[in-house]
Amino acid sequence: MIPVSQPFLPPKDEYDHMIAKLWDSKWLTNNGEFVKELEKELKRYLGLSSLHFVSNGTIALQLAIKALEIKNEIITTPFSFVATTTSILWENCQPVFVDIDPHTLCMDPNRIEDAITSNTTAILATHVYGIPCDVEKIEKIAKKYNLKVIYDAAHAFGVQYKGRSLLSYGDLSTLSFHATKLFHTVEGGAVINNGNCNWDQSIKLLRSFGFENEEYIMAGINGKNSEFHAAMGLCNLRYVDEQIKRRKDLTELYHELLGEHFKRPSIPMDTIYNYSYYPIILKNEDELLKIQYRLKKQKIETRRYFYPSLNRLPYVIRNATCPISEDISQKILCLPLYSQLEMEDVKKITDIMMKKEAVSTI
Ligand SMILES: *Cc1c(COP(=O)(O)O)cnc(C)c1O
Repeated sequence: MIPVSQPFLPPKDEYDHMIAKLWDSKWLTNNGEFVKELEKELKRYLGLSSLHFVSNGTIALQLAIKALEIKNEIITTPFSFVATTTSILWENCQPVFVDIDPHTLCMDPNRIEDAITSNTTAILATHVYGIPCDVEKIEKIAKKYNLKVIYDAAHAFGVQYKGRSLLSYGDLSTLSFHATKLFHTVEGGAVINNGNCNWDQSIKLLRSFGFENEEYIMAGINGKNSEFHAAMGLCNLRYVDEQIKRRKDLTELYHELLGEHFKRPSIPMDTIYNYSYYPIILKNEDELLKIQYRLKKQKIETRRYFYPSLNRLPYVIRNATCPISEDISQKILCLPLYSQLEMEDVKKITDIMMKKEAVSTI
């Protein structure tokens, strides 16, 4: 079986060595040494001045919305993982969907202004597959209408845009360190603050019940993460450059073997990419199902990531149609990509895809 993704695991003795210390210290959670060290190391690696390690990427989004005291309508993307939308709903705000750019698959900034009403307070956009949103245009619009900007950067670990971390754009950015992501802590995530330093205080308080120095200051949640998770992160961080390099090589082999037979999203100039996913865009859903079935018969797993378009979720009020996102989500398929994938596997996968019958062209 070739899975669509597989978590990276560091050498077991390295992890064992770290957690042995926890048997001595008995300090397992609540902002322990490893959590503090991981935050420091991640800031150094990513070139950021503020990063808060939290329990997962969904809580990171919810904390971001809460810390900025965002209410009412949030302009968001229909082409993302479901948590982008559910975090908005969970915080009692309304998602207002703006369709995507057909090339980058990120929110189309030229459609944002039409969606702004007197109730709009923020923009929550996703750097989907680690592809940068049009951060400059979004920032301009946000300034003009006095809106907050949050980026769901769950896929964007290690991506650089115009010479700096993609995570350094927007008021806040969030990361997911789930086991399936490029860099992981088993479960985990982070909130990155690029704005007002008072927000750091709010995020810290909110992730820890709103409790500090024996005082109950605000209604928080439990968004902390543990020493075990942080230890996994510290181990994995040593290998992340190697993994990105390996993913780059695998991606280039896919490109070479698939040639121009399949359309792919485009990555803007001035991006140093992280090779987090390998999505291809088929001619239509029929073609997608055929390819998916053909691969599945050979025990190769692919994923319809992202499907459906989030404006089509049954619990979302249908306030907009998003024809581009709805169309793309029906015909986009992610192929296996992870650092332990073999070059031979890529050959096998592409051979099956390129074989005679019904090969899709652009
Ligand atoms: C994975 C993911 C999340 C959620 O992260 P969890 O850590 O699984 O809660 C949010 N947004 C996007 C775009 C994701 O891919």
